[in-house]
Amino acid sequence: MKVSHIEHLGIAVKSLDTAIPYWEKMLGTPCYNIEEVAEQKVKTAFFKVGQTKIELLESTSPEGSIGKFIEKRGEGVHHVAFAVENLEDRLAECADAGIQLIDKAPRGGAEGLSIAFLHPKSTGGVLTELCEDKNK
Ligand code: ZN
Repeated sequence: MKVSHIEHLGIAVKSLDTAIPYWEKMLGTPCYNIEEVAEQKVKTAFFKVGQTKIELLESTSPEGSIGKFIEKRGEGVHHVAFAVENLEDRLAECADAGIQLIDKAPRGGAEGLSIAFLHPKSTGGVLTELCEDKNK
């Protein structure tokens, strides 16, 4: 697999209102986008750090995956997202290598990206997202 860079780091937070001022200060850069992804039951906030972004994730429902994650493990790093090209081919490559896919086909994520998650059981416990920017 060829990864061009870390697209973003996903961090689960209880409250964007509380987390955003901290991250703005820590990174020295303003949050440039807040977006709700209804399908995922999350509200996201983005910061740019060079080519990579920090994605804060606040749950909009206790039933959502971020809600469950926080209940089980508390706030913290949730996933790492790698930028790839031809996401469908990369997923096929992962499946061929025996990596368990959460998303068998790409779907729409925040920021207009095509995304798919790999199961942490197959990735050493690291929830891994692959992203493709088709608008690039
Ligand atoms: Zn993500």
